[in-house]
Amino acid sequence: ETPVVQHFIRQIVAADNASGKHGGRVVTRFPPEPNGYLHLGHAKSICLNFGIAAENGGTCHLRFDDTNPGKEDIEYVESIKEDVRWLGFQWDLLRHASDYFEVFYRGAEKLIRLGLAYVDDLSADEVRAYRGTLTEPGRNSPWRDRGVEENLDLFRRMRAGEFADGAKTLRAKIDMAAGNINLRDPAIYRIRKVPHQNTGDAWCIYPMYDYAHCVSDAVEGITHSLCTLEFEDHRPLYEWFLEKLDLPNDPALTEPLRASGLWLEPSRPQQIEFARGNLNYTVMSKRKLIALVQDGLVDGWDDPRMPTLAGVRRRGFTPAAIRTFWERAGISKQNSVIDVGVLEGCVREDLDARAPRRMAVIDPLKLVIANLPEDHEETLAFPNHPKDESFGTRAVPFSRELWIEREDFMEAPPKGFHRLVPGGEVRLRGVGIVRCEEVAKDAAGTVAELRCTLDADTRPGMPGAERKVKGTIHWVSARHALPAEIRLYDRLFNVADPDDDSDGKTYRDHLNPESKRILRGYVEPSLGEAAPEAHFQFERLGYFVADRRDHAPGRPVFNRTVTLRDTWAK
Ligand code: ATP
Ligand code: MG
Ligand code: MG
Repeated sequence: ETPVVQHFIRQIVAADNASGKHGGRVVTRFPPEPNGYLHLGHAKSICLNFGIAAENGGTCHLRFDDTNPGKEDIEYVESIKEDVRWLGFQWDLLRHASDYFEVFYRGAEKLIRLGLAYVDDLSADEVRAYRGTLTEPGRNSPWRDRGVEENLDLFRRMRAGEFADGAKTLRAKIDMAAGNINLRDPAIYRIRKVPHQNTGDAWCIYPMYDYAHCVSDAVEGITHSLCTLEFEDHRPLYEWFLEKLDLPNDPALTEPLRASGLWLEPSRPQQIEFARGNLNYTVMSKRKLIALVQDGLVDGWDDPRMPTLAGVRRRGFTPAAIRTFWERAGISKQNSVIDVGVLEGCVREDLDARAPRRMAVIDPLKLVIANLPEDHEETLAFPNHPKDESFGTRAVPFSRELWIEREDFMEAPPKGFHRLVPGGEVRLRGVGIVRCEEVAKDAAGTVAELRCTLDADTRPGMPGAERKVKGTIHWVSARHALPAEIRLYDRLFNVADPDDDSDGKTYRDHLNPESKRILRGYVEPSLGEAAPEAHFQFERLGYFVADRRDHAPGRPVFNRTVTLRDTWAK
């Protein structure tokens, strides 16, 4: 693939390996919450976590961070697994944070016994009011000084389902005056009486992210817990929980995992933050992506205009291009937005090397070669790739009547138009030079057919084959070509930053109405057998992929992945 770019996380891991900090082990994890489909931003984290493990002979876990019942769904679990594999990665271990519910619970009881956690009766609104602000310290809850036995009793009754949702929480007893608000007695557990997609109704109390995450990391023996910058302020809490729980030296906490065969040597992981990956002309918050799908603004999670991995896959982006893109983008602590054109460039680069060439006409105009007999038919051999002979050649049928692209002819051309004009000449790709003798129109005055003559002396192998004309156009034989549905896509939003709502407009006001066009065209007959997801360059038109879902033998459907050049806003 691409050369490995040095960055601060690679340097930290190399230094830790050298010092033996984690016993020379490297264990990372990708921890998605199964509450939506993965998007291109997640791919950055996937490439980083799986990449760091692979480069260091380590392992990487896929962990479903499923501590939020209600929003999570098994459909998302399955799509996440499929997308990670599609990107080219295989996890060494698959876990759910919910596998550790018993460990979280024991850890919480331990904090209570240490006098470091208490059951609070304040409502969510009251907790907020007591929390204080950036400039003002918070106030202690009136329930903060409950005794250990009372706290243990109440917490066990929370677990047993004796209290209503929101009636009580378990909070860490840290410091209500801490400058870092995350340390002002953060919640550890809340009551949620809703079924969980993995554990059903076994639990009605659920751990909060900051608690569950660091404990999951330690339980799995994670060495480097890589997360995005917004968690930087949570790191002191991550450290606090791990220090107080001391999992590696307290076998009682992880004992349930031994019993169920899930045991791994616990570690003391370190959290390292890096900047999220952002792209312009799209949105990547799950909330907005879910709204686009649910409100029918796109055709589902795998709509080719979506930034989801399922969407870009259906569009024809390749895993190699996405991996190269994030590798080149690098890893830093500086937030930035990358132009989506850079990603499209990586896609072009990859497809240029791997996509066989074909001819297709997406807006057909009939061209008749009047000086060929009615039944003229021949088979031409075309190279499948101009730069790579290993792609071989294919047979392309040629006959008297062809389809050409309507835009390759102009009756009244502007200066600099180098394609076909009345009385003018153009080269038909792989055939020779034709002259347009006559333009036939229909009753409405629309050009219906071009009658041309072929200069036999310019055919390949003939003495005039090298004769110069300004333009070369592509074509398909009308008698042989297959009708095909051609889907052209453009950016889903027509502003660079659809998330910016400072002008009172939201991302929904910036949807690009031209982002999808469906055309009826014609393709070379050899494309009838194309496998779903096969990539091609349609000469002069761009890179296309056989649609994963709708393309079938006898019913070709191709999606345009990208144009050959960046034509946006030009
Ligand atoms: P959202 O905020 O849209 O709900 P999330 O970050 O909460 O997304 P998770 O399922 O928790 O979604 O993400 C799984 C992992 O992917 C996390 O470690 C998260 O930090 C990482 N991740 C998510 N978005 C990005 C991004 N844009 N760039 C890099 N990593 C990301
Ligand atoms: Mg989230
Ligand atoms: Mg998250």
